Amino acid sequence: MGPFPASGKKLDLNYLGIMRFEDGKIAEMWVEWDNLTILTQLGHFPPEKKMGAGGTHSHEVRYENVRVPLTNILGVEGEGLQQTLKILDGGRISVGALSVGIAQAALEEGVRYAKERQSFGKALKEHQAIQWLVADAAAEIHAARLMVYYAAWLKDQGKPYTKAGAVAKLFATEMAERASYSAIQIHGSYGYSREYPVEAMYKAARLMTIGEGTSEIQRMVIARKVFEDGPVRI
Ligand SMILES: Cc1cc2nc3c(=O)[nH]c(=O)nc-3n(C[C@H](O)[C@H](O)[C@H](O)COP(=O)(O)OP(=O)(O)OC[C@H]3O[C@@H](n4cnc5c(N)ncnc54)[C@H](O)[C@@H]3O)c2cc1C
Repeated sequence: MGPFPASGKKLDLNYLGIMRFEDGKIAEMWVEWDNLTILTQLGHFPPEKKMGAGGTHSHEVRYENVRVPLTNILGVEGEGLQQTLKILDGGRISVGALSVGIAQAALEEGVRYAKERQSFGKALKEHQAIQWLVADAAAEIHAARLMVYYAAWLKDQGKPYTKAGAVAKLFATEMAERASYSAIQIHGSYGYSREYPVEAMYKAARLMTIGEGTSEIQRMVIARKVFEDGPVRI
């Protein structure tokens, strides 16, 4: 199992595991850390040295010879994969929202700096090149926000939202990278400095296109749905 965030004291931790039975059926199961009759061996590793997102620790977790009682099954035996995919569908809307937040914060920093900093006798905000960076980011943030709202609305209405969630996730996460890139560009060398927050935003945005399904996986999901449903509407 790959790295995922874990925080708090060791004994507070529980894990959601995806288990495959000998007959091939998959189920989601609750794995409790502190029950040694359940966990015969669980390795807990030091935090990963990550590029960004330092506010959460990410640890590798390894299950070896773990025995989990059948009473720990969440949902229905044999439907674990569908249940997991459903959780990912919802999570993608959240990552889209997170990305809109990162992008907006980066743009606000860029705008603030563009008003302050003078170059060639005028404020940065007076240069058309800087205005275009701001305008593109503002337009893309707005589009991404509407996509996230739309996917969330579909979910609230109990309507299918797999495609809309993947579209929102794909666009919003890649957009957050572009917006935070522009924010660094507006700051010039200060954008590359840890004295200013935009470098951390850029690194946080980079994660968004990976976690909860990479951009490549979102494109696979969207393409599959477009071929099934028709390309006209999301
Ligand atoms: C900081 C951090 C926190 C995380 N938190 C969690 C968490 O809380 N819970 C959790 O379950 N996971 C978590 N993850 C794991 C994350 O979801 C996976 O890393 C991510 O889904 C990609 O899987 P992978 O790393 O195995 O990449 P791989 O599957 O090895 O993919 C490598 C590359 O190949 C591409 N690729 C793979 N298969 C295909 C294909 N069929 N077609 C085209 N391209 C393909 C991928 O898009 C990617 O670019 C976290 C990861 C990070 C970095």
